[in-house]
Amino acid sequence: MDADVAVIGLGTMGSMAIWQLAGQGVSVLGFEQYGIGHDRSAYGGESRRFRIASPLVGETPFIKASYRKFRELEQDTGKQLLSDSGALTIGDPNTGRMKNVMISIEKYDLDHKIFEGNEAMSRYPQHPLLPGEVIIWDDLGGILRPEQIVISAVNRAKSLGAKIHSYTPVVDIQADSNGVTIHTNDSTYRVGKVVVTTGPWANKLVPSLNNVFSVHRLLMTWFMPEDPELFKESKFPNFSRLSDGVHIQGTPALDGRMVRVSDNSIKAEVKDANFFDKNVAVEDILGVRESVKKLLPNLNPDPMRISAFMEGFTSDGLPIVGSLQENKNIILVCGFSGQGFSQSPAMGEIAKDLVIYNNTDYQIDHLSPYRFGLVNYDYIQTASE
Ligand SMILES: Cc1cc2nc3c(=O)[nH]c(=O)nc-3n(C[C@H](O)[C@H](O)[C@H](O)COP(=O)(O)OP(=O)(O)OC[C@H]3O[C@@H](n4cnc5c(N)ncnc54)[C@H](O)[C@@H]3O)c2cc1C
Repeated sequence: MDADVAVIGLGTMGSMAIWQLAGQGVSVLGFEQYGIGHDRSAYGGESRRFRIASPLVGETPFIKASYRKFRELEQDTGKQLLSDSGALTIGDPNTGRMKNVMISIEKYDLDHKIFEGNEAMSRYPQHPLLPGEVIIWDDLGGILRPEQIVISAVNRAKSLGAKIHSYTPVVDIQADSNGVTIHTNDSTYRVGKVVVTTGPWANKLVPSLNNVFSVHRLLMTWFMPEDPELFKESKFPNFSRLSDGVHIQGTPALDGRMVRVSDNSIKAEVKDANFFDKNVAVEDILGVRESVKKLLPNLNPDPMRISAFMEGFTSDGLPIVGSLQENKNIILVCGFSGQGFSQSPAMGEIAKDLVIYNNTDYQIDHLSPYRFGLVNYDYIQTASE
C-alpha cells in the first residue's frame, strides 16, 4: 500500500478532507490535476459568501459546524480566512425562502436582527426595499477567501505529513474488496480508500453519476459604485436578495472599489468540464445588468470585470456524500449545487470520519449516493468477472 487513503481533487472539499485526515495521523496522498489554488473550477473569484441562517434549513448544521472549523484552520495556519462582517438575506418575509431563514435561526438559535422600513433604509441605503420587504442580519456571516483557504488547508496537510501531487490528474480508479488502485498518466498507486472530491469532474471518475449529475457555468460580475465608501465591508455585508423575481447575491468592495454581484438565475450547462470555455459573450451579462439597475441603483450597471466558473449540480440540488459501495472504499463528496463552500470544513470532517470509522455523527442519510440508486461500483466489477 502506498497510503491509507487518497483524496482525489484538492479544491474546496478535497483540501478540507486532506487537512483533517492528515491531522488524525492518517497516511494520505492528495492528487490535483492543476495547481493548488487554481481558478478553473468551482472555488475561484476571491470571495464566497458565508451565512449560517440558510434558506436551505438542512444545510445549517453543516455550516454552523464549519464556522468553528474555519476558525480552527485560521488558528492552525495563522491566516485570516473568514471575516466577521455578518450576512444579509433580503426579501418578502412571507416567501418560503425568508420563512426558511427564520426557521434556521429559531431551530439553531442564531444571533440575528431584522430591519424594516426607515431603520432598514438608514442602515443599508444601498438596498432600497420594495414595500413589505425586510432585511435579516445574520451575526456570524462574513466573507470567505476561497483560494487562500484551499492553499492554507493543503499546506497544513503537507506539514502534517500528507503527500501532495499537483498537476497530476487521476485518470482511473479501480476498487476491489481490499482497496483501490489509482492510475495517473505515468504512475499507479495502491491505497485502502479514496475520497473523490473532483467537483465539476465528479462523473468522469464515477460514470454512474451521469444520470443525476450535471455541470453548469456560473458567472461572477463586478461593478463600480458611485461612492465606494458606502460599499466597504463594514457597511455592506454579503447579501442574498430575492425581489420581484430577481435573485441576486453579492459581496462588498474587498479591494475598496469593485462590488461583486451575481444573478443566481443565470447558469448555462457545460457539456464537458474538460472543455470549459471561460470566455463570456456580451449577451450573457445583460441579465445581471438589468438586475443591478433594478435593485442596486448606487452601482454603475455595466460590469467592469467578469469571471466564469463551473459547479457540479445534482438532480435534486443536494450534494452526494457517502460511500459508493458496500465495502466503503470509495467515498463521494461532490455535487454541491452552488452551496458548498460554506459547509466544506464539515464535509471534510465527514470524509475523515467515513475513512476512519465508516461512520459519522453528522446526519447525512439524506445525502447518501443510494438515494439515486447509484450502483455498487465494486459489485459491477465482481459481477462481470
Ligand atoms: C460562481 C460561484 C459562486 C459561488 N458562491 C458561493 C458562496 O457565496 N457561498 C458558498 O458557500 N458556496 C458558493 N459556491 C459554491 C461553492 O464554491 C462550491 O460548491 C464548491 O467550491 C464546490 O467544491 P468542490 O470541491 O465540489 O469542487 P472544486 O472546488 O472545484 O474542487 C474540485 C477539484 O478537483 C480537481 N479535479 C477534478 N478532477 C480531477 C482528477 N481527475 N484528478 C485530480 N484532480 C481533479 C479540480 O481541478 C478541482 O481542483 C459558488 C460557486 C460558484 C461557481
